[in-house]
Parts: sequence; C-alpha cells; structure tokens
Amino acid sequence: MTTIDLRSDTVTRPTPAMLAAMHAAEVGDDVYDEDPTVRRLETELAARFGMKAGLFCPSGTMTNQLAITAHCAPVSEVICEATAHVYLWEVGGIMHHARASVALLPGDRGRLTASQVASAVRPVGNVHYPTTRLVCLENTHNRGGGSCYQWTDLEEIAAFTKKQGLALHLDGARIFNALVATGQRSEDYGQLFDSISVCLSKGLGAPVGSVLLGSQEFITGCKRLRKLFGGGWRQAGYLAAAGLYALNNNVVRLADDHRRAAQLAEALRPLPYVAEILEPETNLLIFRLDESRLTVADFLGRLEEQGIRASGFGGSWVRFVTHLDVDDDMIARVVAAVAALAA
Ligand SMILES: *Cc1c(COP(=O)(O)O)cnc(C)c1O
Repeated sequence: MTTIDLRSDTVTRPTPAMLAAMHAAEVGDDVYDEDPTVRRLETELAARFGMKAGLFCPSGTMTNQLAITAHCAPVSEVICEATAHVYLWEVGGIMHHARASVALLPGDRGRLTASQVASAVRPVGNVHYPTTRLVCLENTHNRGGGSCYQWTDLEEIAAFTKKQGLALHLDGARIFNALVATGQRSEDYGQLFDSISVCLSKGLGAPVGSVLLGSQEFITGCKRLRKLFGGGWRQAGYLAAAGLYALNNNVVRLADDHRRAAQLAEALRPLPYVAEILEPETNLLIFRLDESRLTVADFLGRLEEQGIRASGFGGSWVRFVTHLDVDDDMIARVVAAVAALAA
C-alpha cells in the first residue's frame, strides 16, 4: 500500500525528468557569481514577477528573514498578520535577525486590509515608539487555509505603503497557487511589492530552494546578508536546475491540486465528526473536528493505519495538503477512508 502523505506540499520527491534536468545542469561557484544555472533561475523568476533581480536561497525562511532584515534599520517595527509564517513559524527571526518589534493584526483567513494596516502604523516623531518600516503580506496564506488576496486589496495596501514610505514584502511561498487560482498576472506583482519570496520546494515540487526578488540594490545587500547567515553556496546550479524545471513544468498543473482539495472538502462536508471547514481556495484544506465524536489523535491515528498521513493544526484543527505526489486514485482512497471513520 503506497503511503498518501497529505501533511505538506514540501514532501514531494523529484521525478526522473526533474532529476535528469538536475544531472545535466551547467554549474559553477555561486559565491564567485559563476553558476550559470543559478543566474538563469534568478533572472527568469525576476522577469516573471516584474522585478530587477533575484537571489536563490536554501529556504523560504531564509528569503523572508533576509528581506525583513534588509528592510529594517535599528528600532524598527514590522506589521504583519497575527498568524503569518514570518511571525509564527520562523523561530522568532524578526526579533533575532532584524531586532525589530512586530505589530500583529487579525486577518480574514490571514488577509489584511489597507485600513487595518493604516491603523497599525506608529505616529512619527514620538520618542516612545519604534519606527514602522515594513509591512509583510502572505499569499496564499498558510494558516488561513490557502486563502488568496483579491488584486484590488493588494493595490490598496501597496498604494498606502508607498504613500507612507513603508516597504512592502510578500511571503509568496505559494504565490503560484494564488496566481493559478485567481488568474492574476505575476508581472503585476513587481509593481506593488518591494520584495517577494517565492518557494520552489512547495507546490512546484523542487527538492530545495526559494528565490528572493527585488531591486538590484536590494538583492545585492541581501546577498551579503545571505553570506552572513552562512547561506553562501557553491555549485547550487544542480538545485537551481530543479527549480527551472519546476517553473516550466509544474505551474499549470497546480489547478489539479486545487480541484483535489475541493474534492476532499466535499467528502468531509457531510461527515458528522467534521465541525467546520475553511473552504479551500487552493491546495490547503483546513478543517475542525467535533472532538466529542472523534478526536484529532484518533482521526490521525486511524488514517495512519491506512497509510494516510495528515497534520494536526492546533486545537481541533487538521490540515490536508494536495500536491504533485497525490493523484486521483489516492484522493479516492482518502475519500473512502474519511467516510469509513463516520461509520
Ligand atoms: C513553507 C513556508 C515558508 C518557508 O518555509 P521553508 O520551510 O523555510 O522553506 C514561508 N512562508 C510560508 C507561508 C510557508 O508556507
């Protein structure tokens, strides 16, 4: 029985075709700026998002934290949503790396509005306050169950930050899911954001890597910080080749992951032990159990017995994630398994 791993879209393994592309990569020493494949990945992704430059890094945590650190001068404050990855799941890096304070706002499934952001900006010229410098948005929003921003909301926030002279960073770990789900254009994102972090190792299916995008000057600064973080790497072109392969082959198919997450939601909806579902907009499906009927521990344990893995997501919540290594037959198996738990 094949295991069906719904814990995360990070669990995918490279396909033979992706491995062949990696094997064939032309490489050099990236610390010396001599890896042509890394350069190609950075240039191609920057162009796609209407940005000038890119920086290939090992993880999305590193690209986010480099950007936040670069945007923040001493005694800064960062505005973000209360369950943002940059705040919740990056080891307190905003405090540690950027030594910045954080203003947390409650979002609608992780999404903020321009008026919320405006309400959190510190008054200028008052000795008591840190200086607000940066706003971080997340699209799609992980804790919000893969929710997507409307373009007009992004435009309003960007117009406000521009007017206020604040930097605007996008944690776009799953930005391609948002693009596929909404039909927004990647090129337009460069008009709104000062920096964007894109993960290749989530839905796109590459084994490793994220790319930070921004202006040439910003990226040059971040490259120095990356070295400081210990993230200067050498023949990284083998990994960049996987990223290029993913960009060319695994973007359009994200729609299949979204369709499958919706199918799982349909299957869960009538079940008596399911109390609440955050309607999936992309590939993340978060739902709450009625633990008087079935506890999260029992739910996960009994699925595991059938070779199906999922994540507890705090309290009575569970997360299912669809991805490249989950096909329609597997979805059918999960649908049958969750229905059987109601019997
Ligand atoms: C996964 C993820 C990241 C980066 O995670 P790494 O594991 O460090 O690559 C950043 N933001 C969001 C929203 C994520 O889901």
